[in-house]
Amino acid sequence: MSSHVASPGVVPSYLLARLAESGRYPRAAAAARQTLTAGRPPFRARIDLSIDENGDLVAQLSDAPNRTISDAANTQTLPGAVVRTEDDAPVDDASVNEAFDGLGATFELLLSAFARNSLDDAGAPLDATVHYGVDYDNAFWDGERMVFGDGDGEVFTGFTRSTTVIGHELAHGVVQHTANLEYQGQPGALNESIADVFGALTEQYLTGQDAADATWLIGAEIFTDAVEGVALRSMIAPGTAYDDDELGKDPQPDHMSGFVRTTEDNGGVHINSGIPNRAFALFAIDLGGKAWETAGTVWYRALTGDLSSTANFTEFADATVAAAAEVDEATAASARRAWTTVGVYGDEPAPSTE
Ligand SMILES: [Zn+2]
Repeated sequence: MSSHVASPGVVPSYLLARLAESGRYPRAAAAARQTLTAGRPPFRARIDLSIDENGDLVAQLSDAPNRTISDAANTQTLPGAVVRTEDDAPVDDASVNEAFDGLGATFELLLSAFARNSLDDAGAPLDATVHYGVDYDNAFWDGERMVFGDGDGEVFTGFTRSTTVIGHELAHGVVQHTANLEYQGQPGALNESIADVFGALTEQYLTGQDAADATWLIGAEIFTDAVEGVALRSMIAPGTAYDDDELGKDPQPDHMSGFVRTTEDNGGVHINSGIPNRAFALFAIDLGGKAWETAGTVWYRALTGDLSSTANFTEFADATVAAAAEVDEATAASARRAWTTVGVYGDEPAPSTE
């Protein structure tokens, strides 16, 4: 099945368009122009062996990832040549191993935190292609696989080192298999935001970080030192991730009062995602502890419940409050406060869950 429909990539086209005009970064400008014009299961299990209290050997089956990394060898032909599969040892190419590890981290988050077996909850293989194109300034989920460019070296360093980018892209696969939020306007911004939530959670899970200690940055590894910026996006402080003479300023609003109405970027999907992003970060920090536990589970249940593919911010907020109410009323109140702080709920009390 080939459905080349999903996300256009982790780097939004408005940022690439700006970069394409850059006088300071000629190689990056050329790479951005090229990137803009360029155009996507078997079960596996692992056996855990242990000795029980009677001294008997016990074998337990659990779900395991099934990863295949291919190398496009700087062409734009997918999938490229297979260079590492699930049972292979690390290879000499760091990009291959980073992609392999990032896919594994996302699989572990989905399985451990949400009891989800891969993107489709049916053990779908996790496929990725590295070294896509020449100086290609993006990473994307094409509906079937993750594709990574190497970056131009002047502005973007490449994408395989960023766990948040990998978790983000694979989350588009989870969304595709669940609420399938349309990639336009508010549902599109929710699609982007949920991808950022999973990206941040993948990194926090991998490092064992508490919500309070997390950076809440998406793509903190992808800019070179030449760029005035810390990441592509900040979930806790949208609009502050970069402010660079050549790239401009991070355009994300952190409140509904700054909601951007535009026909670009599929109606601002990478821009207005800042609003639900901040709601999640506030909720997770307010609850305390590990964000993937309660906060992540509430968001996951909202996504995998009966959410419509055309859900707007308020409808998604309502779904999270309902999911939070299944934990307890204090959790529901925390979710309501977060959505009120970002202006999705008005100052009047949000609808009771009773
Ligand atoms: Zn995305």
